[in-house]
Amino acid sequence: MYDLHSHSHCSDGELAPAALVERAAGRGVKVLALSDHDSLGGLVEAGKAAADHGLTLVPAVEISCGWEQLEIHVVGLGVTATDEGLQTGLAAQQARRWRRAEAIDAKLGKDGAVDVLDELKRRFPAAAPTRSLFAQLLVERGLVRDHERAFARYLGRKGSAYVAPEWCSLAEGIGWIRAAGGVPVLAHPGRYGLSGSALERLLDAFVAAGGQALELSYPQLFPKEAQRLARFARVRGLWASQGSDFHSPRQHWTELGKMPPLPPEVIKVWEARPELFALPATPFSEPSNMAQDAQA
Ligand code: AMP
Ligand code: MN
Ligand code: MN
Ligand code: MN
Repeated sequence: MYDLHSHSHCSDGELAPAALVERAAGRGVKVLALSDHDSLGGLVEAGKAAADHGLTLVPAVEISCGWEQLEIHVVGLGVTATDEGLQTGLAAQQARRWRRAEAIDAKLGKDGAVDVLDELKRRFPAAAPTRSLFAQLLVERGLVRDHERAFARYLGRKGSAYVAPEWCSLAEGIGWIRAAGGVPVLAHPGRYGLSGSALERLLDAFVAAGGQALELSYPQLFPKEAQRLARFARVRGLWASQGSDFHSPRQHWTELGKMPPLPPEVIKVWEARPELFALPATPFSEPSNMAQDAQA
């Protein structure tokens, strides 16, 4: 069983990388990609745990990219985590995240929710700030009932603390992934609220920039929509990927290894690039510059 999209506490996931890998192994996952938002920080720990559990850990990352006023998520599968260009690019993304978080924090403060970013740093010391962590704290403070309302009232496009992001372009994100030897995958294509023709334009831009695969199976993607997406993929020669996008055991609608079957007649990314999904020939070792990353 392949689960090629998941998060640890190095971004907005709840579990530490080792606990995530252990849970995946317990659910029958044999090949797991850890794809934290704009971060490679969990890969060393996850790689060690994977070796202990006889599971293949695919080093990955989910990059937030800007395209026509939208935020598009691109998962890079099988990236070389020590690649300097990728590391530099992700460091710039992290800096953008912190700048945005400061601006969100200031707006929240004016709207009666003070010092949320300080609390976020204390509570999630391994993480870079994402809006979902802000949402969790706003819920815990009793200011809103749930995540959805936190986005509607504060953090989403129409919220009082909305700050437009300044992510890298689609072409930049894809370029970093390709240069680091990875496969760029357009994540959850059904979640951008795009009509058929806009989605086709996005796919054309994605392919033109060097994108190679499309997620065609993830929770809440209905078979009919998957079949339509599979047609879009086939005519563009895109491979298929699948992933749970697991964040937390408390989100009962996602679970590691749990997703619908892929639509028929698609080329699976692990068939197209088998070397990226095999058990490593040598046990996972710790490159010195990654160890520093994990502590940063
Ligand atoms: P960020 O990368 O800081 O913009 O945060 C994006 C994350 O917030 C996504 O990965 C989702 O987990 C979450 N998110 C975005 N929009 C919503 C929404 N409307 N409701 C709930 N969660 C959301
Ligand atoms: Mn997330
Ligand atoms: Mn995403
Ligand atoms: Mn994700």
